[in-house]
Amino acid sequence: MLVYKFGGTSVGSAERMKHVQQLVSQDGERKIVVLSAVSGTTNALVEIIQHFANGNDQTLHLVRALKEKYGLLVTELYATDEGVRNGNSVVERHFDELEKLLSQPYYSKMEKVILAQGELISTQLFTALLKERGINAQLLPALDFMYIDENGEPDLRQIEERISRLLNGFADVDIIVTQGYICRNNTGGIDNLRRGGSDYTATLIGAATKAEEVQIWTDIDGVHNNDPRIVENTRPIAQLSFEEAGELAYFGAKVLHPNCIFPAQQRNVPVRLKNTMNPEADGTLITGEKNPQAVKAIAVKDGITAIKIKSTRMVLAYGFLRKVFEVFEKYKTPVDMITTSEIAVSLSIDNPDHLEEIIRDISPYGYIEVDREQSIVCIVGDFVAERKGVGKDIFRALDQIPIRMISYGGSKNNISILIDTQFKKEALITLNKELFNL
Ligand code: ADP
Ligand code: ASP
Ligand code: MG
Repeated sequence: MLVYKFGGTSVGSAERMKHVQQLVSQDGERKIVVLSAVSGTTNALVEIIQHFANGNDQTLHLVRALKEKYGLLVTELYATDEGVRNGNSVVERHFDELEKLLSQPYYSKMEKVILAQGELISTQLFTALLKERGINAQLLPALDFMYIDENGEPDLRQIEERISRLLNGFADVDIIVTQGYICRNNTGGIDNLRRGGSDYTATLIGAATKAEEVQIWTDIDGVHNNDPRIVENTRPIAQLSFEEAGELAYFGAKVLHPNCIFPAQQRNVPVRLKNTMNPEADGTLITGEKNPQAVKAIAVKDGITAIKIKSTRMVLAYGFLRKVFEVFEKYKTPVDMITTSEIAVSLSIDNPDHLEEIIRDISPYGYIEVDREQSIVCIVGDFVAERKGVGKDIFRALDQIPIRMISYGGSKNNISILIDTQFKKEALITLNKELFNL
């Protein structure tokens, strides 16, 4: 089995959807096709939720504007009147549900239901298109098998059990279409795998079905060596190991959801990135194979808060770090980077929701300094202990940039540097020149 995932831009218009139809059916291979919402839809739904939660009367206006876009999409998508009628009835049904929800008083659980509408609509419209074109296709609802546990983490065992049972009923179907991003939580409610989560759906399905390969089809020809939204001269990387891709995804390469590599790595399922707009390009292949090239890519993660705790006692006296980290555990706040000296420990977090409580709870252990609006620049490659000279090249590139923290040696695949976000662009450009001659 192959798993193909198409992102929002790939299904962003009638023309794009028709192109995707050709891509999934041309080789005659059986596949599960995971779709995102039509591009712009999830953002529009987020905006609708914000307006609604604030009691703004613009809400219905936004809903109707979105519905109108789908009206146009449907007229361009189908060749037959029956196709257009079916498409319109899908759109009507979901927008009626949306309006019904929005006519009730706001409650937080409705947010996830509203956000789910994008993927629910795109997959039905696409399945109907495949059927209209005579392809043997069926929709497999993600809400029947994609489950997260009480910590919001995918429950791979349950997913595996449910999907294999369901797939027995699809044995003679060529193209099985399902929704990315959406899932059910441990109370059975509609939930999601966080923004960009369709990549995660695809690799979870790949792992659960032990697929031959997961292909993530997007709007760029693979993982690039640097962030193409910030740096002009970037190039695709032909091959990455799971570890390298995992670090890049976690540390900000938007092209992959932060957690999506892990399930593929766990079950050793290759992940290939392909460009929907340029299917001939090789893209990037991510496998268990290591390639000894020193530096592969750079990614950047914004919105980081750095916390320094200066103690009057020796930090490394036993028990001190435990007490500090227990505070982060208590507030379910993951720590990204850590550096220590005799009398201080610095660490970084990307979720400042509980910052005040965290500072309050650690302040008995020392003097605290907080820096907001920091960025982690993450240099990914194969940094085995014997490798020489990488540090020199990195720091030469960054010699005009104030560095707040450095982390080297924690992982063989990642060197992380914390800087103020105002220096991010300059840092990425100079690193691109120094490390890749680009
Ligand atoms: P999709 O909707 O297909 O999931 P995304 O917008 O989530 O697509 O991801 C693709 C985008 O990620 C690219 O258009 C590019 O701007 C951005 N991006 C950021 N870092 C990288 C990188 N290292 N390599 C490739 N693309 C990247
Ligand atoms: N539609 C969702 C989002 O925009 C999921 C995805 O595109 O992967 O975040
Ligand atoms: Mg994405």
